[in-house]
Amino acid sequence: MNTKKNNKAFHQNKKRPQQNKSNRKIKSTINPNRLIQEAQEEKASKYMAIKSFNEMDLHPQLKSNLKQMGFINPTEIQEKTYQHLLLKHNLIGLANTGTGKTGAFLIPILHNLLDQNQKNFKTLIIVPTRELALQVQDEFKKLSRGLNLSVSCHIGGTSVSADVSSLKRHNDVIIGTPGRLLDLMNRGNLKLASMQTLVLDEFDRMLDMGFIQDIRRIVNSMKSREHTMLFSATMDPKQRSLINEMVKDPVQVSVSNGDSTSKNVAQDIIRVPEGADKFNMLLKLLTGDGFNKVILFAETKRLADRLSKKLNQSGIKADQIHGNKSQNYRVKALDKFKKGNIKVLVATDVAARGVDVVNVSHVINYQLPNDYDTYIHRIGRTGRAGKQGSAFTFVD
Ligand code: ADP
Ligand code: MG
Repeated sequence: MNTKKNNKAFHQNKKRPQQNKSNRKIKSTINPNRLIQEAQEEKASKYMAIKSFNEMDLHPQLKSNLKQMGFINPTEIQEKTYQHLLLKHNLIGLANTGTGKTGAFLIPILHNLLDQNQKNFKTLIIVPTRELALQVQDEFKKLSRGLNLSVSCHIGGTSVSADVSSLKRHNDVIIGTPGRLLDLMNRGNLKLASMQTLVLDEFDRMLDMGFIQDIRRIVNSMKSREHTMLFSATMDPKQRSLINEMVKDPVQVSVSNGDSTSKNVAQDIIRVPEGADKFNMLLKLLTGDGFNKVILFAETKRLADRLSKKLNQSGIKADQIHGNKSQNYRVKALDKFKKGNIKVLVATDVAARGVDVVNVSHVINYQLPNDYDTYIHRIGRTGRAGKQGSAFTFVD
């Protein structure tokens, strides 16, 4: 990739002292110097699985679906959690973004669903965002092709009556975001008392987004809960007591130390000198080599809107996902981005969390994010599945 060349042009700005003191700035707890890091060799982050999926004790159709999806070997988190989850040990799985945590819980769940002795095995999967819920549903559908299993997904911004009717059917797996799940539970349509298995995905994000009370209410109504797994990219020691409350006597599998960024993402900052035209700097950056699929983070919905419009006016195909856009709009924008019909997806944190698009070349932060956890999640949108990626952060 040729991004080195691009970097050089901006490096000269790096030594300038931070200015713009009078400007209204977002408070950030991040030291920008922490955001500079070379990507490590790809092989350093490649894990050598002990067994391929084909060598594992899995249903033949599940094996064939995995193969179809291009999943040959389990990732590290998948391999190290698999036995525990088959044996229904409560588990906390910590691994960087993009390391296959979705498969880590879905594959054992599918295996257990296919086990003839486990009739009425039902799972609830709670995730923080709508996009992520749809993605998990999509992965479940791919993994369960031809297996006659059923899934339903319940997220905000969609018709409640459609949810209600899909909940009347039998569902092996129910996926959803906390708000909608709680709503359906309170209406009496979602009956949790008979569901044994619970997955809390991207738990750190759920806490950040203030979902803890909703999650507590949902979890407390799972009266016959037998098995709980919690996955997260980061773990703040302050969250420990909350986690203990949700998951009793867990096995902990840590593939990361709980706070490191993806090692295969090169990271750099771009200082914006006083009086410089920041948008112009962005345009220059975006026209560099290798900037094929870029997620541009904006702090506010308004800014996301403005950036998307200005990029299009400047001849760069862009679209936006954020909380002011309808779910339908967000799905369409994400789809255009996946297909490569647009080059830049402008996003706010809430909308972009958990988005998994293959081959995102760059993540750009138009402003310094509020905290380091947010930063980690953002840059985790690139450098996924062992691929290299780059992240740039503008520092005013
Ligand atoms: P995380 O939840 O850890 O952020 P995901 O579950 O979204 O990561 O997976 C990241 C990417 O890796 C996805 O594109 C997924 O399809 C892919 N992936 C997951 N497991 C495997 C595997 N065993 N082999 C190849 N690709 C995989
Ligand atoms: Mg995930």
